[in-house]
Amino acid sequence: MRLARLEYEGAARWGQIEGDTVHLTRGLSGERTGETVPLEGAALLAPAEPTKIVCVGRNYVNHIRELGNDTGGLPKEPGIFLKGPNALAEPGGTVPSPEWTESFHFEGELALVIGRRARNLRPDEALEAVLGYTCALDLTARDLQKTDLQWFRAKAADRFCPLGPWIETDLTPTDLRVVTRVNGETRQDGRTSHMIFDVVQILTYLTRYVTLEPGDVVLTGTPEGVGPLHRGDTVEVEVEGVGTLVTRIS
Ligand code: MG
Repeated sequence: MRLARLEYEGAARWGQIEGDTVHLTRGLSGERTGETVPLEGAALLAPAEPTKIVCVGRNYVNHIRELGNDTGGLPKEPGIFLKGPNALAEPGGTVPSPEWTESFHFEGELALVIGRRARNLRPDEALEAVLGYTCALDLTARDLQKTDLQWFRAKAADRFCPLGPWIETDLTPTDLRVVTRVNGETRQDGRTSHMIFDVVQILTYLTRYVTLEPGDVVLTGTPEGVGPLHRGDTVEVEVEGVGTLVTRIS
């Protein structure tokens, strides 16, 4: 099933997508209200209401190499950082290129949306905690990522996490193609099977330290091919089986 969040009559609502129609529901998992909205032209919002956005960095070997971060060998544990809910941006939205970075990079990623409270997950139950999957654009101030002690400015600034266009609940995350295009040109083309730490390993690792709440979002890392964005660019992140997240840079 595809679950969308959208603005409808001045309020944020959840709905189920069926064909070209969004059937509005009472909350995320409630029953349909009978209200419907055409999918085309619907004012889609980021499809999650997280308490936190947990991100895995350096999770694809070739991306680690392209950043020159492989001198100490491959990571032994997932490298984790956070964005807050302030970082979310809606699908089809516009993100201003900040004036305080000289190197505003795209990173296309598979994202998970958590469906139930999860702590100390075992490997065999980890995927049960996932409500579904969507596309994320992990916007990054690459210059500040290199100079700052923490990645607060580099990763967690307002609107640095476009997410969507919806959640796909019926998907196996182990081998999905993740493609990023800038102005129609393919810049990243990877598969989730190339992750160093897969979704199950990420979730068992994270929940040793933090409780994941329903609606929390986990970004799983980016394949090789990252690069700078400029004003006027259009970025598309396509995850196989989900759809395409479109973001404009202004
Ligand atoms: Mg990333």
